Amino acid sequence: MQNLKVYNSLSGKKEVFKSIEKKFVGIYVCGPTVYNKVHLGNCRTFISFDLIYRYFKHLGYKVRYVRNITDVGHLEDDSENAEDRIIKKARTEKIEPMEVVQLYTVDFHKTLSLFNILPPSIEPSATGHIIEQIEIVKSIIKKGYAYEINGSVYFDVSKFDNSYKYGKLSKRNIEDLISNTRNLDGQSDKKNPHDFALWKKAEPQHIMRWKSPWSDGFPGWHLECTAMSRKYLGEKFDIHGGGLDLKFPHHECEIAQSEAINDGKECVRYWMHSNMLTLNGKKMSKSTGNSILPEEIFNGKNSLFKKEFSPEVVRFFMLQAHYRSILDISEDALLASEKGYKKLCDAISQLSEIETNKETTGFDVTKWISNCYGALNDDFNSPILIAKIFDAVKYINSLNTGIESINKNDFKLLEEKIKFFFHEILGLNLIKSKSKTKENNYIEELINLIIDIRNKARFDNDFETSDKIRDSLLKLGVKLKDSKKGTEFKID
Ligand code: AMP
Ligand code: ZN
Repeated sequence: MQNLKVYNSLSGKKEVFKSIEKKFVGIYVCGPTVYNKVHLGNCRTFISFDLIYRYFKHLGYKVRYVRNITDVGHLEDDSENAEDRIIKKARTEKIEPMEVVQLYTVDFHKTLSLFNILPPSIEPSATGHIIEQIEIVKSIIKKGYAYEINGSVYFDVSKFDNSYKYGKLSKRNIEDLISNTRNLDGQSDKKNPHDFALWKKAEPQHIMRWKSPWSDGFPGWHLECTAMSRKYLGEKFDIHGGGLDLKFPHHECEIAQSEAINDGKECVRYWMHSNMLTLNGKKMSKSTGNSILPEEIFNGKNSLFKKEFSPEVVRFFMLQAHYRSILDISEDALLASEKGYKKLCDAISQLSEIETNKETTGFDVTKWISNCYGALNDDFNSPILIAKIFDAVKYINSLNTGIESINKNDFKLLEEKIKFFFHEILGLNLIKSKSKTKENNYIEELINLIIDIRNKARFDNDFETSDKIRDSLLKLGVKLKDSKKGTEFKID
């Protein structure tokens, strides 16, 4: 089998994957801030890493997949008086911050399970790792890359940059940096605007607070991921992932924190970033109102799409794009995915009806399997894998109509592998469409034939015949719908 290649955001290249420890892969992915329901964009990132997790497991690695829950420290924006998102929600809802956390953590798990996203091996929370975060701040201060002012501690970006290099992931120069880190309030205390808070002294009214050597306060957002990834995966681990929007400043700051303690040694082997889901061409984001919740798509109660779409179809739609490509969601795109998904489910359901023959014609099963793996090994290229699966669907359909034939061994292999890629790697399940038996196929063909005859009559202005056909079909429960795209039918 070919080598697995992974695109490393740090080098900007696809690299042959080699784990630090043989047969073991450590993956850390930044999880959600649980102050709200996750929108579909968030889900895209977790679906992308679900595929990656599944494939590593399949390759025989013992995978430790750590995905955190951010339940403190993630501020609303970068302004001086920005509020913690969870505290703000607790204040407006008049509930405890931990009630907010509980509510949206449960909702997050429920939503992800609808998408058939596997749970991670460890799901640590920021508030459960305050001691570890304080220890990291102490180490950074000891190494000379952080300073305390008025009970708050800041990372000294310029000093770090003098020793090592700040900005290598996002390819920024320190000179170009503007103060757009998600800083905690009290920016005026900082030596430089691009320094970021490691620990922040809490104002008297701030509810979420812990004791520390510097003040009663709370950790900066970037700190939690450094603390939890080091704790569960070690000083250096294989893969760190997250959405592309986290590359800067979050991941850049994580690198600085880890390297400050590690004397400049690399902390992550491969950085992986999944691209954004967009709506109307703009990043899906709760704060701008440009977002849609998974449940609104599943129940069809939204102002964007005329009909509902199942979690399977939405997951399939997401996987039809490569994780590094931008993906725009629209009704037309979802309808196309739904159509394709049904076709795929029908073909897999029909496998049990296929009769094997002495010889295989028209399809090289071994080569097909190798091509499927080739797609996955090329930086988890799910759209290519899906295109390969559709090649097999076409073949299965021609086996059904008797145009091609397949021998027993090839069939066994094809059946096993197509189901494996579909269920285990793409994480999809068959949706119960009216199963397409051979009989159904014939009915469909016959109706299409009648539609052709009716269309010919309409073309010839023979409306008496065309109306008669339409009305007769309706009496049989077959409803015709004419549109610019042609005539479609629905059986009631
Ligand atoms: P947050 O709760 O905002 O920290 O986001 C949780 C995860 O969702 C992070 O990995 C983000 O990068 C990711 N994310 C946020 N918005 C989008 C989007 N529109 N498309 C894809 N991923 C997103
Ligand atoms: Zn993180």
